[in-house]
Amino acid sequence: MATAAAAVARRAGARAAAALLSACGTAARGWRRAGPARPLCTAPGTAPDMKGYLWERYREAKRSTEDLVPSIMNNLLNPDAIFSNNEMSLSDIEIYGFDYDYTLVFYSKHLHTLIFNAARDLLINEHRYPVEIRKYEYDPNFAIRGLHYDVQRAVLMKIDAFHYIQLGTVYRGLSVVPDEEVIEMYEGSHVPLEQMSDFYGKSSHGNTMKQFMDIFSLPEMSLLSCVNEYFLKNNIDYEPVHLYKDVKDSIRDVHIKGIMYRAIEADIEKYICYAEQTRAVLAKLADHGKKMFLITNSPSSFVDKGMRYIVGKDWRDLFDVVIVQAEKPNFFNDKRRPFRKVNEKGVLLWDKIHKLQKGQIYKQGNLYEFLKLTGWRGSKVLYFGDHIYSDLADLTLKHGWRTGAIIPELRSELKIMNTEQYIQTMTWLQTLTGLLEQMQVHRDAESQLVLQEWKKERKEMRWHQLNKEACTLGAKL
Ligand SMILES: [Mg+2]
Repeated sequence: MATAAAAVARRAGARAAAALLSACGTAARGWRRAGPARPLCTAPGTAPDMKGYLWERYREAKRSTEDLVPSIMNNLLNPDAIFSNNEMSLSDIEIYGFDYDYTLVFYSKHLHTLIFNAARDLLINEHRYPVEIRKYEYDPNFAIRGLHYDVQRAVLMKIDAFHYIQLGTVYRGLSVVPDEEVIEMYEGSHVPLEQMSDFYGKSSHGNTMKQFMDIFSLPEMSLLSCVNEYFLKNNIDYEPVHLYKDVKDSIRDVHIKGIMYRAIEADIEKYICYAEQTRAVLAKLADHGKKMFLITNSPSSFVDKGMRYIVGKDWRDLFDVVIVQAEKPNFFNDKRRPFRKVNEKGVLLWDKIHKLQKGQIYKQGNLYEFLKLTGWRGSKVLYFGDHIYSDLADLTLKHGWRTGAIIPELRSELKIMNTEQYIQTMTWLQTLTGLLEQMQVHRDAESQLVLQEWKKERKEMRWHQLNKEACTLGAKL
């Protein structure tokens, strides 16, 4: 199993392709077959009416799309489904591994507000930022995961898989940057590979373009933008790189100084979403003789309290190996750090670890040692995590484990993709593209004018769709 997003994209793509094939006269999923483009007939000695011919094809394609939409509406994607982009039999899986945060445990909306407020207060109290920034509050609808932040220029943006900036999504502070300015700033809209951050959000060329891939990074993006906004609005000179580092350090301190952990532990019901299915799933796996392990970056007492809440006091009986403060992604790549045992009081012991035992809690360590001590190698292991890079990519690419991505955003995105308006727009976009491909052979001036109009329509639809998706998906970007 791999990322569900990829599976969804593939299925949506197949659906759109089916619509296109249908509109172009190819059988698709039993939908109404639009006939092949009619030949262009003209009376002998007269010039063909290209304009009339092309617009008639356009109207036909439009009718075909309208006929197609109800069939697609009857075959919607299930927002609660599990998507797979590789074949796998669960009967072959002997060992199940889990990340903790946003994999076994889900947090309420209050958590991001807590992180934002705590980091904002650290900026004021420890980094001596102006107290006026306290007036900014966390906006859950401001950003989505996966955005890039240009550290030097202090702008947040969406960059696609081909490294092109999505125009209209570039924000400086809390305001959108006009397209013309973006194009001038980047001498186009392409960002070279060497400026992009690597798998783990770092850049080999210093702090240039940082990608935010973690669910915990949503308040960080929001705080960065709010503080930039304050300095810009008040005409205060500042160094964007320093601001980025200060915000990054403050967010990090909310985690490592234990502010977030203490707040959650003090009010578990407020911050953790209880899910009764979690215990049922884990218990079922255990009943079927599956081995289970947990590898988390979070500390021992924090994980223990959370797991007691969502799974029960006996949660450790279900797991064969528990590793806390693993420091992923280093855990998967660094061969040097040994495992340490943590006792019941959370104290670190220094005994050399020859075996990973059930009922014990271990700290740090590394995957190479883990594989040696457990023998849990290759495709009999299925590991679930929410961070595409640090939880999943290395395991699949380097170690051959099967991986499952937990992507909470997928449900709301699928719900949007299932709306009639979205389906109508996307189906027509695909059909219009097919029509353009088919009719581009007509190179005369009259035909080219019609084709230009179609291209303009397609561009405007894409633009509106992009903006609508961004807003509906919970991002102003
Ligand atoms: Mg996680």
